[in-house]
Amino acid sequence: MSTAQPHVPDVSIEDRLYTVKYRDAGESHLGVENPDVCADCTTNECTSVCPAAVWTVDPDGDGVPSIAYENCLECGTCRYGCPYDNVEWTYPKTGGGVVFKQG
Ligand code: SF4
Ligand code: SF4
Repeated sequence: MSTAQPHVPDVSIEDRLYTVKYRDAGESHLGVENPDVCADCTTNECTSVCPAAVWTVDPDGDGVPSIAYENCLECGTCRYGCPYDNVEWTYPKTGGGVVFKQG
């Protein structure tokens, strides 16, 4: 039986993300339902499940995540990663959003 492995190019995740473009719809398609829930959240799963580091929580802040929606890949993982079902998630307005290209 063959044990050949698929060829995986030696390209960093940062370089791969650099090829992804985002058409800014002018407003965030992501948010939190209730900031008070975030303020009491100690685990901040939204920051660890996102592959594009969209969600960040300032350790000296109020606990509510900052959301760099312009980096979003629209994978939807944060919707399910938040244990409190506190993520507001919609697709960007028509014409906006992520643009994937190969190469
Ligand atoms: S969105 Fe969810 S996981 Fe992220 S800080 Fe708020 S409650 Fe916690
Ligand atoms: S949809 Fe995916 S890429 Fe976008 S913020 Fe959520 S986890 Fe990150």
